[in-house]
Amino acid sequence: MPFTPFHFGPGALLHAAAPRHVSFTAFCAANVVIDFEPLIFILRDDPPLHRFFHSYAGAIPVAIATILLMLAARAFFARFTVLDRLDVRNVATRPLVIGAILGALSHIVFDSIMHADMHPLQPFAKGNALLGLISIEDLQWLCIVLGCTGALIVEWRRWSRK
Ligand SMILES: [Zn+2]
Repeated sequence: MPFTPFHFGPGALLHAAAPRHVSFTAFCAANVVIDFEPLIFILRDDPPLHRFFHSYAGAIPVAIATILLMLAARAFFARFTVLDRLDVRNVATRPLVIGAILGALSHIVFDSIMHADMHPLQPFAKGNALLGLISIEDLQWLCIVLGCTGALIVEWRRWSRK
């Protein structure tokens, strides 16, 4: 299913571990951008749903597109006084870039475990060694635990600063 928030969990923990180096917003944005691929093929009823952009090679242009979108969004929010709930106008370039790259690459790792139509090493190799590594239910719980751990660390840090 495209646009699942389970993918955001690892990003929350990465951001909590390195808040000045990994933008959670850019991480999430990359996970949304990449899932336009299966969405398009769902709407066209044209399997397989996971193609080039659901590979490590394909994740790179997705990360670049996400970086450009985030830079455009940051410029927009910096220019106009509109509500910026995600505080995009204050995201520094380095964490934005790192967040987008980690978001796109981690998406391939997690999707590889659950989607049989993926070939994460294409165009260099076929097959998917991670498929079924753990059950989908365990994978979703792992993402929830990672996300909650990250959120707790961020909240604890915010509370301890007061
Ligand atoms: Zn996906």
